[in-house]
Amino acid sequence: MSGKILIVDDVATNRIVLKVKLAAACYDTVHTAGGANALRLARELQPDIILLEAQLRDLDGVEICRHLKADPATRSIPVVVVTTAENAAARMPALRAGAEDFLTKPLDEAVLLARLRSLLRAREAENELRLRDLACRDLGFAETCAPFERKGCVTLVAETPETAARWKSELAPHLTEKLVIARPEETLGENLCGSCPDVFVVAADLRPAGAGLRLMSELRSRQATLHAAICMVVAPDARDTAAVALDLGASDIIPEGATVEEMALRIRRQIQRKRTQDSLRASVANGLRLAVTDPLTGLYNRRFALPQLAAIAERADVTGQTFAVMILDIDRFKIVNDTWGHAAGDSVLVEVAARLRTNLRSADLIARIGGEEFLIALPDCTLESARATAERIRRAVEEQPVRLPHLGSEIPVTLSIGLALGGGSRREPLAIEEVVGEADRALLGSKADGRNQVKIGRSAA
Ligand code: GH3
Ligand code: MG
Ligand code: MG
Repeated sequence: MSGKILIVDDVATNRIVLKVKLAAACYDTVHTAGGANALRLARELQPDIILLEAQLRDLDGVEICRHLKADPATRSIPVVVVTTAENAAARMPALRAGAEDFLTKPLDEAVLLARLRSLLRAREAENELRLRDLACRDLGFAETCAPFERKGCVTLVAETPETAARWKSELAPHLTEKLVIARPEETLGENLCGSCPDVFVVAADLRPAGAGLRLMSELRSRQATLHAAICMVVAPDARDTAAVALDLGASDIIPEGATVEEMALRIRRQIQRKRTQDSLRASVANGLRLAVTDPLTGLYNRRFALPQLAAIAERADVTGQTFAVMILDIDRFKIVNDTWGHAAGDSVLVEVAARLRTNLRSADLIARIGGEEFLIALPDCTLESARATAERIRRAVEEQPVRLPHLGSEIPVTLSIGLALGGGSRREPLAIEEVVGEADRALLGSKADGRNQVKIGRSAA
């Protein structure tokens, strides 16, 4: 993973030392002196990370951070303030102004590089999500997900119950989220606060040695906690632990002994980030769902159904089981539109779709493949049971007219159904197109014979 890093420091030797360190790790660096230059270059070059000295001749680091985070063009670029111990007073102001981290010189190279890798990974993951979301939107499948209302949850895992209780009582006035104390093994069990916690705060020094890091790896690898943020609390001198934690996927490092204000600020930031990512993920999932469904009935659309049908046929090839395909068409639907209007016609389509759904198994495929035409595939199904299912569906539509209370109307509706069987142990199973073609021909037969009936394709009959 290479990245472009902007180094901002007024002292040339400092810039060069950093540049050499980063070049050795194959980072592409640009360096500059002065805050005004830094702001300009950040906008122009769009670096992946900015390493910023807190004390510059024209602007101070906190001020620069504030500008960077206020400008939509530079807001998402992570900023790490790197400064001498004398400037340590700038720590909280810099973090409050939006700096992702604050490191004091002399820098521990392993920690610095691990921190850069972790920031780059997080940035790439978020960019990827944004790209997918944009792609869905470009395709017209945009639906902004409702802002997230659930009260967040932070789980605290400390080395002793006393420390956990202290964290909880100190953090409570600073966070609106629910704070839950847990023992390490409890975090991997059933959910602790009704759903997955947004943030885990885990002490690195859990006993036995290494248990904190192991717990973090477990949390990262499990489906339920995969997307949670994890803040590791690490002793300031345990630099190797901090570096390893970041490389194993810690979202942030809270130095042990940090003020409660810093701890709360870092946790709040992770909650914010997780919320953004959750909402992006939901939006992408929603966009994908919209891409494969018919907006009127909520059934799958043709584009989704055809490859699914091919997959059912392929599975049947392997198992030797038969599967059934039905093509269904509403009879004389044009008359519905002509008599009651197009909106009433739409309501009929929605009702028919609902009746199809209630009469099928969850493993069955139902799709709207044309105006008033549907396709159903029944995996692992014999001719007898497919015929019974088709009859049940036909009756479910015929028996109850569609009621439209707002029009005071009851619309009688019937379906014609063509059914064909695929798969099975015959030596040359029909290609899926042939099975669908047969179901289509059977449907035509059903129309020709007076409609409202099920006809079965020749090769299955
Ligand atoms: P048949 O029994 O032979 O199938 O007769 P039909 O009237 O159902 O068939 P035809 O193909 O002549 O007409 C289908 C009608 O379905 C025409 C079209 O306007 C209507 N239609 C297609 N899509 C929609 C839709 O989304 N909403 C509504 N309300 N009508 C639709
Ligand atoms: Mg029709
Ligand atoms: Mg039709």
